[in-house]
Amino acid sequence: MQRTIFTEDHEAFRDSVRQFIAKEITPNLPEWEAAGFIPRDFYKKTAEIGINGLQIPDQYGGGGIDSFLFNTVVYEEIGYAAASLGGFQVHLNTVLPYFLEYAGEEQRDRWFPGFADGSLVSAIAMTEPGIGSDLAGVTTTAVRDGDDYILNGNKTFITGGINADLVIVVARTSKDPENRRKGLSLLVVEGDMPGFIRGRNLHKIGMKSSDTAELTFDNVRVPARNLLGEEGAAFKMLAHNLPQERLSIAITGLATATAAVNLAIDYAKERLVFGKPLADFQNTKFVLAECATELQAGQALVDQALIALDGGTLTPADAAKVKLFCTEMQARVIDKCLQVHGGYGYMSEYPIARLYADARVTRIFGGTSEVMKSVISKSMGL
Ligand SMILES: Cc1cc2nc3c(=O)[nH]c(=O)nc-3n(C[C@H](O)[C@H](O)[C@H](O)COP(=O)(O)OP(=O)(O)OC[C@H]3O[C@@H](n4cnc5c(N)ncnc54)[C@H](O)[C@@H]3O)c2cc1C
Repeated sequence: MQRTIFTEDHEAFRDSVRQFIAKEITPNLPEWEAAGFIPRDFYKKTAEIGINGLQIPDQYGGGGIDSFLFNTVVYEEIGYAAASLGGFQVHLNTVLPYFLEYAGEEQRDRWFPGFADGSLVSAIAMTEPGIGSDLAGVTTTAVRDGDDYILNGNKTFITGGINADLVIVVARTSKDPENRRKGLSLLVVEGDMPGFIRGRNLHKIGMKSSDTAELTFDNVRVPARNLLGEEGAAFKMLAHNLPQERLSIAITGLATATAAVNLAIDYAKERLVFGKPLADFQNTKFVLAECATELQAGQALVDQALIALDGGTLTPADAAKVKLFCTEMQARVIDKCLQVHGGYGYMSEYPIARLYADARVTRIFGGTSEVMKSVISKSMGL
């Protein structure tokens, strides 16, 4: 079906992003996966073609665009190229929106130019060893001491945490026994602050080009001017930003599932079984037809959600539905496409194997599928 959300400008931008990916991402991905992170100069290169600052106001060197559609083009193209750049995507799709929404004038002056020119790399630290889905239970504390907060606690699974210059940390600044959601704040920790300790770059089964860190905050003195938004209002801010983050994950899920179908079609046309191309067998045709139909359904949801996001009407429950459907569909589709590849699909040198491993996490991060179902069922009055 013809998509109707993009203009000629988006498509021209798409062409240049596609060329950039073919030159700068596809050939380098194996090296980044072996290293366990994306080199910093990559962020400078994406900045040069205007990707990093799309939504940053132009006085800070950004593109000043309100719409999320140009960002969507970038993440779709990365997915179509069968790549998942977790750290890069979290930096721009998850963390930057908090700065765009909540940074004050002085913070904008300090940080926006670095986001726009690619010299700043960021991460967000919500999850703790004992707390993931139940975010209201955060135990990291930030106690006010004069002009500073003293930050103590441990975070884990932090994408981009090994290399980040700025980490937004969710910490408890006060306790309300009646309401655990109250009293959480967002503090921006800078990479060189004493007491900020980066632990292991965790070994994962997929998303290997993105660093995933354990972080410790041991009496880190964070100036109060690094408080993002209002003290005690983090839960509200997180709830406000999560729909866009969840839609971004859905977009990547759909795009990588699309890449898998294209890989399976190419493979099925080339591979001979029982003396004829695999694509000639009715089962192959039917499996891929089912996959194409699933992609179409996901696309309709994503495009509708993008219109709602740009219009300011994307609800948490709707974003949860889109993430739930697209990431569960991604898993089904990529699994079927791997099956089409037979034993070769299980070999790491085949991109379908990477897609399979990378896909597993989209049903976990940004809120698990079970959490999505909780959000949706709450909106149904259940
Ligand atoms: C590769 C990777 C990158 C990540 N990047 C980041 C990052 O950059 N920043 C960050 O802060 N976090 C990050 N995370 C953490 C991620 O968001 C959490 O793993 C996720 O929210 C789940 O939390 P948990 O792992 O503690 O699982 P738990 O919350 O312990 O959940 C365990 C199981 O219980 C289920 N469950 C939980 N609550 C309910 C319920 N109410 N009803 C039914 N079932 C339930 C879950 O769905 C899951 O199946 C990342 C994780 C991974 C794997």
